[in-house]
Amino acid sequence: MLFTRRCVQCLTAVGNRQVIRCCSAAQGEVRVRFAPSPTGFLHLGGLRTALYNYIFAKKYGGVFILRLEDTDQSRLVPGAAESIEDMLEWAGLPPDESPRRGGSVGPYLQSQRLDLYNQTAKQLVESNHAYYCFCSSQRLDLLKKEAVRSGQIPRYDNRCRHLRAEQVQEKLAQGVPHVIRFRLEEGVEPFQDLIFGKNHHDVAQVEGDPVVRKADGFPTYHLANIVDDHYMRISHVLRGSEWLISTSKHLLMYRALGWKPPTFGHLPLLMNKDGSKLSKRQGDIFIQSFQRDGVLPEALLDITTNCGSGFNTNRIGRRIDELISEFNPEKITTHSALIDLEKLPEFNRIHLQHQH
Ligand code: GLU
Repeated sequence: MLFTRRCVQCLTAVGNRQVIRCCSAAQGEVRVRFAPSPTGFLHLGGLRTALYNYIFAKKYGGVFILRLEDTDQSRLVPGAAESIEDMLEWAGLPPDESPRRGGSVGPYLQSQRLDLYNQTAKQLVESNHAYYCFCSSQRLDLLKKEAVRSGQIPRYDNRCRHLRAEQVQEKLAQGVPHVIRFRLEEGVEPFQDLIFGKNHHDVAQVEGDPVVRKADGFPTYHLANIVDDHYMRISHVLRGSEWLISTSKHLLMYRALGWKPPTFGHLPLLMNKDGSKLSKRQGDIFIQSFQRDGVLPEALLDITTNCGSGFNTNRIGRRIDELISEFNPEKITTHSALIDLEKLPEFNRIHLQHQH
C-alpha cells in the first residue's frame, strides 16, 4: 500500500518534495538500528533489514547503530556476535555505533545493560504498570493444556495481578521464584506505520500479561528492546513485518513509562521467487556462504534491493551510493519481496565489470 507523502520524522503529510522530512531539525537527528539476536549467523533476510536501515540513515544524514540482543542466553551461538559485525563490514554497511566501535549510548550488547532493564522493570512495578508473578511452571503448563483441550488460544490468566501487597512481600521475603509481568491495558491507540499505514492490535483481548523480566533476572525481548530504543534515542524503528503485531504492546509500554515512542516502519518479508519462506536450513542464505563463494558484496546488496521496493525504478548495477540517492521510503510496499537467487551470477558479473 502506498501512503501519502509524509514527513519521515513526524508523519505530517507534506507536499510533493523529494525529501519527505519537514521537522528533523526541530526533532533531532535520524538514528536507526539493526538489532539482531546472536542466536545465529547473519543471513540474507537480516542483511536486507540492515541495508534498509543503513541507506535510510545515510539518506537523511543520520546514524546507523548495531545493537546485539543477546538476552536469551540459552540460545546464543558461539561466534555469531563477532561474525554479524564482520559481515556488515564486509557487505559495506559499517555501523557508526556498535559493540566493536562503541559510541556515546553504549554498551551495545544487551547482556551488559541489565541494570537499566532492572531499573525500568522496578519503575513499572512501582507505578503499578507491572507486577510480580509467582505462578509455577506447573501451573502455567496446566493453563496451557486446559486451553488446548477446550480449543482456545493459550494465555496467562493474569492471576497474580490480584495478589495483595502483603502477599507479594511475603513471597519475596521467602525467596519464591518470580517473574515480572506488564499489565496490558485495554484501549490501544492506533499508530501510523511508515509502510503499513494505520495499525493497531488490541493485545489485552488476545494475550495474557507478558513477562518483562524473567526468573533468571534477564529482561525479555519486549522490555529490553523498548528500553534500548529509548535510551539509544532511536528515531525510527525499521524492522521485519513479523514484529508488526508486537508494536501495540510496545506502545503501551512507552505510554506507561511516559516516553515518546519512535516512528515505526515494518519491512515486508523477503521470500523465494516461488513465494516460499527463505530457509536458513538451505544453508546458502548465510552471508558467510556468499562471501566464501566469491559473491561481491555489491552484487548481494543490489539483488536484495532489486527484488523489493523502496526505489522509484529498479535497475541492475546500483552501488551503495546510488542505492542511497535513489532510495525512496515511500515506495516500500507491503507485499513480500521475492528474490531470485538464480540471477545472482548475472548481478555479480555486472558488478565485476564495474570494478574494471
Ligand atoms: N532481536 C530482534 C530480532 O532479531 C529485533 C527485532 C527488532 O528490530 O525490534 O529480530
